[in-house]
This record gives sequence, C-alpha cells and structure tokens, in this order.
Amino acid sequence: MRIAEIHTHLLHHDLDAPFESSFSRFDARTACLVEVVCEDGTAGWGECLGPSAPNAAIVKAMRSLLIGENALDTERLWLTLYHQFRDQGQMGLAVTALSGIDVALWDIKGKHFGVPAHVLMGGAFRKRVPAYATGGFRRVSGDRPSYLAEETAGYAAAGFRAVKIKIGYDKDEDIAAIRAVREAIGRDVRLMIDANHGYDAVEAIALGNAVADQDIDWFEEPVVPEDLAGYRDIRSRQPIPVAGGETWYTRWSMRTVMESRSVDILQPDVCGTGGLSESLKIADMAAAFGIRLVPHVWGTGVAVAAALQFLAVLPPVPPRHEPRGPWLEFDQTDNPFRQAVLTVPITQSDGMVAVPEGPGLGITVNRDALDRFKAPQA
Ligand code: CA
Repeated sequence: MRIAEIHTHLLHHDLDAPFESSFSRFDARTACLVEVVCEDGTAGWGECLGPSAPNAAIVKAMRSLLIGENALDTERLWLTLYHQFRDQGQMGLAVTALSGIDVALWDIKGKHFGVPAHVLMGGAFRKRVPAYATGGFRRVSGDRPSYLAEETAGYAAAGFRAVKIKIGYDKDEDIAAIRAVREAIGRDVRLMIDANHGYDAVEAIALGNAVADQDIDWFEEPVVPEDLAGYRDIRSRQPIPVAGGETWYTRWSMRTVMESRSVDILQPDVCGTGGLSESLKIADMAAAFGIRLVPHVWGTGVAVAAALQFLAVLPPVPPRHEPRGPWLEFDQTDNPFRQAVLTVPITQSDGMVAVPEGPGLGITVNRDALDRFKAPQA
C-alpha cells in the first residue's frame, strides 16, 4: 500500500445569512479535505480542522515525507511527520494538517483490510451514538432570544435530545438567551453553552452562577485556551461542568490540561488534535485521569464519519450496566456541502446517529460535490 499521491480539496460556499461566534463572523463555509492515493488506486479521505488554504499548504509541505511510504504504517508516519515539524509545529496548523493525513491513512487501512476503522481500533462499544445539535449562533440582525428559541425548538422537534448554543458575546445578553432557549426546549432536552473563549474568568464565573438553575450539561471554552488557571477558577467557583479541548493539540497539550484538572469534559477534535491515532491515545489518557471525553466536531461528513469511528471505540467510563454514552456533536448550521460530499448522507433519527459500517471511515466521497463547491482560488 505505497502512497502515490496526496491531494487537497478546498471547498467554499458563501452564506446567505452570516452568523457570529464570540470572536469571528462566518460569511462563508470552507473545508480542506485530504485525499491520499496509493499505487493500487486505493484512496483514503481525511479533513483538517481550521482555515482551509493554510492547512492545504502544510499538507503539501508534508507530501515528500509520505510519497512511497506504506500507508498502513500509521504510527510510524505520524511520528515521522510530527518530528519533522515539531520545532514550529507542536500546536495549530501543523497538527491540523497532520490530522487530515492521519484520518486518510486510517481510511486506507480499513479499505485494505475490508473492515471499518473502529474494528482496527479495537472494536465498537456502540453502533449508535446520541447526537446533540450545535447551532444557536448570534445572527447579524434580529431579536436574539426569539430567534434562538425558534431555532432550538426546531432541533428538539426534529428529534435531538440535546442542543448547544453560542454565548460569549455579552454576559447579560447571553443570560437572557440561555433562559429563552431553556424555556423553548423544555426540561427534557439537554442544553449546553459554548462561549468560544469570549469571556474572562470573572464574567464566566458570574454567568455560570446566574444560570445555575437552567440545568446545563456543560460550559464550553469559557476563557482563552492558554488560561488554564482561569479554567480552574471557573471550575471551582460556579456549578456547571467545564468543557474544552478543540484548541488543544496532541497528547502533550492534553497531558498538561489533564494533570492540572482544568476541565471536567475534554473535547479533542479528531481532525484537529492529531487524527484518529492521536485521539485514541488522548482517550486512554482521559480515562486514566478520570476525565470525561466528548469529541469536538466541526466540518463536513468526512469529519463527522471520523468522529463516529472514534466515538464507537470510546470505552464506557465508568463501566456499569447502563453506561453514560458519549455525544456526537452534530452541526446543524447552514453548510450545503456538509452532507453533499458524501454519496450517502449521515443523518440522525430520534436523536441517534449510526456509526458507518463500510470499510475505513465507512463513507464514499461524492466527487461531483467537490467540483460544485470547489473554492475559487483552488
Ligand atoms: Ca466549541
């Protein structure tokens, strides 16, 4: 299974209705897919979290280290790439680019052996995963409590048993939004809040206490990822479990977070933190540290499929007759190529999503969609 070529596919779609996280504005959806092709024609697919053109540039820079190598040597190739880029690449784009390559290699490995990636990763503890709807962003106009109430009630009506909304804009405005959403979805639907590190610790502690009666499962990225002391203050001074992890990379960053017990729930992104190879290590470390793990997911169906393979093999922690399952983060915001890149879309039914059972990631990429949504500069 010698690697013959590596392609990146950049996707772009301008949004009719832009939306905002705490610090960025989404005028368009973009993606960087990675396609690794072997000499026998087998192709594996991955995806890189983060800005698409810089990710593609780094994937290209890693290409010469991969051509002619055995695609099945996932561990050896991961370390080869990481070692070469370590001095300037312990976090961020070097690792997100490596993640896309690693996921593609696992897809190839599964196709080579004719089994889903979760079989090669040790076997599935579950074949269906509960999904939570990610949405609830601030829009550029409109009355936020009312449009969020309508949007999130729609997710509940569609079958989702949990929804996550965005905060981190303005503390008092956010408190009103949270209360409106809880009222709209009722008490039977789980609710999570995500500040995208838009607060400082003082604001986060005040908000967490102000919405303590709203039955919130977790408070995600309250402060910037560098501020682990802030995370610990927030954990100790307000009652909502604290989550984070989409901007921490590899076993080494995660080790610091775990040793310092900075979060209750760790959220590595398979396509960002180092691929499936690295996510497995982080999952074992989290289990050893007694820290919950719910992966972050933001991307196309390729990233969703990779996350589902990972979710399948996460051990039940703690083991018991009815273990608490992990959640799939399922972005519901406008992105026409999220499912279009797959020949068979990944969908939820009654709030549950099936783990793909085909070889590798269990998906087939629709090349027509790659053409249709090809980025202008690509
Ligand atoms: Ca997030």
